[in-house]
Formats: sequence, structure tokens, C-alpha cells
Amino acid sequence: MKSLLLFGATGDLARRMLMPSLYGLDSEGLLTDDLRIVGTARSAMDDAGYKALIEKALREFLEPERIKSDLMSRFLGRLRYVPLDVSAPEQFNALSAALLREGANPSDGLRIFLSTAPSLFGPTIAGLASAGLAGEHTRLALEKPLGHDLASSRAINDAVASAFPERNTFRIDHYLGKETVQNLLALRFGNALFEPLWGAHGIDHVQITVAETVGLEGRLGFYDETGALRDMVQNHMLQLLALTAMEPPARFDATSVRDEKVKVLRSLRPIDAATAQTHSVIGQYGAGAVAGKPVGSYADELGHASSTETFVALKVHVDNWRWQGVPFYLRTGKRLPARRTEIFIQFKAVPHSIFTGPGAALQPNKLIIGLQPEEAITLRVMMKEPGLDRQGMRLREAPLDISIPNAFADSRRRIAYERLLLDLLDGDPTLFVRRDEVEGQWTWIDAIRAGWAANAMVPRPYAAGAWGPSAAIGLTERDGVTWHD
Ligand code: NAP
Repeated sequence: MKSLLLFGATGDLARRMLMPSLYGLDSEGLLTDDLRIVGTARSAMDDAGYKALIEKALREFLEPERIKSDLMSRFLGRLRYVPLDVSAPEQFNALSAALLREGANPSDGLRIFLSTAPSLFGPTIAGLASAGLAGEHTRLALEKPLGHDLASSRAINDAVASAFPERNTFRIDHYLGKETVQNLLALRFGNALFEPLWGAHGIDHVQITVAETVGLEGRLGFYDETGALRDMVQNHMLQLLALTAMEPPARFDATSVRDEKVKVLRSLRPIDAATAQTHSVIGQYGAGAVAGKPVGSYADELGHASSTETFVALKVHVDNWRWQGVPFYLRTGKRLPARRTEIFIQFKAVPHSIFTGPGAALQPNKLIIGLQPEEAITLRVMMKEPGLDRQGMRLREAPLDISIPNAFADSRRRIAYERLLLDLLDGDPTLFVRRDEVEGQWTWIDAIRAGWAANAMVPRPYAAGAWGPSAAIGLTERDGVTWHD
């Protein structure tokens, strides 16, 4: 009997993402018949109570047409629940006994997913190890955040390594489960078209934007201790940067892909005390309006003044041969005008224009890989405007559009966690974050924070509904670059 043991099984992530993902996999016949999903959290409940909780969540978070009574009962039939407080080590023996009663075989096929606060990772891993539920044959998946700096990340990684080998450790960055992120690899390495231009000779600059319209959404304490740099840049944005900048891996496997990403992280030029002022901008939203609705300031939402950044923009360099002189501009923030995540690649201008006359100004080509709100890939190219051209050829920039929902209308749009959960069950760590990767990310992020502290930098105010403070515009305009709004 195979078991997926889920810690934090009553939490938001489990109800909103993980269970709907597992239901989706089950409804496509992708879970083996013998898989049991054992949920655990402190709340006192029996199996029936847990099944009722998850059925309610599935009905809330899945499209109604995907709920089928036979699929629902098959899925709920897989669920078990064992109440456990992970800070009470003695309770892990009861968990182990419950798993054995279910026919689980810890020496083959136990998969564990930690969807709890990271402060609980240490006691959970210790409890698992003492109850014989860790080791060579068990896989462990961990949700972010994997620490709040290099030291705390190392402490988590050391605790994990004491009980689980690295090859069985599956650190989640759910961006890697997104179709468009994997599509970046398909686009770069499955086509001859782009790679010859992919570097300093063909690309002028890259912009990566992760823009949110929402404010704190109830995550008050967590966000205020974390800030935009650690919440978004350390993990998701550095993954997008690494996948954009990496060399072609020799194979599409866990070692080759992650080796190349780590090389990019090691090539990032540090932003430190000397360059923090010129290469980074931090902001915090004040009152304003988003989508026509007035919203309060960050400090109002929080209930007190704070020096946490809700916006960050960075000018980043990848110091290797391929990317010499090509800036990567990163920006992310809350209460921005639009919810948008994209990688924007601006190619170099043609070396000489043969077109003269009014209406012949050439725009450089752009490749836009959109992750949110829609997954779409757009290449912007110059086209001739229809007409008789009495005053010279008129050209206009027009998109070559690959809207993923349209191009692949017959495939269901999946939650990123579906892919990741299936890879965890199948044992493929390619789309998970390796220890040296996460520690490389933190090393670079810690230097930025130290640079801010050394320069006594505090967030500049921006009105909710604006694209961050005006200094963020200056960051690119100095280089003659405009943010893609
Ligand atoms: P949550 O809603 O607060 O859920 C926390 C879960 O942990 C609950 O099931 C809670 O159940 C359980 N728990 C708390 N203390 C426990 C203890 N001492 N022993 C055993 N279980 C305990 O959190 P969440 O939003 O699901 O997030 C879970 C993790 O994923 C967090 O680290 C979060 O940062 C990360 N994450 C979440 C999201 C998201 O969209 N929600 C996205 C990315 C990452 P009881 O109270 O019943 O014990």
C-alpha cells in the first residue's frame, strides 16, 4: 500500500490547492489504486469528519462540472485522518501505528508533504525519524518559505538532511509547476529560432514582473516580517531568471537542469552596500485606488507603521559570457495597477533600417512570456501596414500570438501543484529546488538586504494603484529602457 502523508492537512493550501490537485489527478486515473492520502493536523476529527471537510473544499474550489459523484466517492475513499501535534514527539508513534494499520509500508512508498509553517519542519522531521517514518525510501516535499535568510535555510536543510537524502527531498516552488514556465524551456530548447539570438548579441534587456493588485490579504505578521524581496524575488523570480538565462542542459533531467540553474545563480553579480542605491529601489504603498476602488495604505492595513518593502525593483547582471552587458530588470509589488506576471525579452534593434519616411520607425522585437493573468506567449514583430506606400513603406508592430488556452483548447488547465504532486509520487525531482539552488538564492538575497541596511535605505512611498515609486522608473530610464506596463 502506498501512502501520501500530508501535514497541515486542514490548512488553506491543502484545501485550496493540494486536494483539488489530487482530485484532478485521480479523476484522470493518474493515482494508483493502492494510494491512501493520510491527512494530519492538530484539529480533532475522525476519517468521516476529514472527508466531509475535504468534500466541502473540493466543491468550493473546483469548477462545478468537474465534480462527479463516482469520482468524488473514489477520491474520498482514499482519505484518512490522524490528529497529531507535531510539537509532541510521542504522538508520532500513534501516527506510525495508524499508517501501518492502513497497510502502509514505510520502507517502500511513503511520500510526505509538509504544508505547515516552516517553524514546524524541524520537530516534524525529528518526529518522523524517531517513529521510523524517515530514511532512504521516503520522499519529503516541503512548501516555501525555506527559511528567511541563508542561515535559517541552512538550518532547515540540515534538519532535512539528517533524516532524508537530498535525492528524496522535494523543495517546492510552485512556479516550476506552471505550464508557461516549462514552456520557456520548450520554447528555448525545442526551437532553433530563438537560441542563436539568446544572449548579449541578440537581446537588449530582460524584464521580469510579478505584479499583484492585492494588499496584505490577512497575512499580516508573515508578510511584514518577510517583505517583497524575500516573498517573491528569492524564490519565484530567481527561478524565472535562472530558466531564462541558463545554458542549454545536456538532458532534461534533474541533475542537468538544476546544474545549469545553479550556475546562473552563482553568476549573479552581487547587489551589495556599494550598489544597493543604484541597483535597487524599494517602496511601500500608501492609500490610493486599485481598479477604481479606493484602498488604504499598508500601514493602515497592518495597524502600525512599518519599514517593510511592499515593492522592489532590481537591476541585475548575470556575469558570464552569454549575458555580458544585458541587464535583467526585476520588479514585484503589492497594490500595483494590474495582476500580471511576465517575462519580457527585448531583442536588439536591427543594425540598419532600410525604411525611411513617416511611419517607418522600427521597434525592436519583443518576446513576452505571460504567466498571469493568462498563460500566453507573444512575439512582437514589425509588419507592413496594408497600403500603396506612396510616401514609403509604413510599418507597425504587431503580435504573433500563441494563447495557450486557445492553441491547446482540448487540454484542461491545470493547477501547478498537479504536476508537482505527480512528480513527487513518481520520484522525479527535476521541477523541484535543490539545496545548492536555494542556498545560492539566499546568499544573493542576503547581500541585498545587507546593502539596504548599510545604506539605511527605507521604502519610498507609492500610491496604491501606481507602478511603484517613481525611482523605479528612474532605474530603467537611466539606461534608456521603459518598463513594459
Ligand atoms: P494554514 O492555513 O495556517 O494551515 C496550517 C496547517 O498546519 C493547518 O492544517 C494546521 O492545522 C496545521 N498545524 C498548525 N500547527 C500545527 C501543529 N503544531 N501540529 C500539527 N499541525 C499543525 O497555512 P497554509 O496557508 O495552508 O500554508 C501552509 C504552508 O504553506 C505555510 O508554510 C505557507 O507559508 C505555505 N504556503 C501557502 C500558500 C497558500 O496559498 N496558502 C502558498 C505558498 C506557500 P491545525 O490548526 O488543525 O493544527
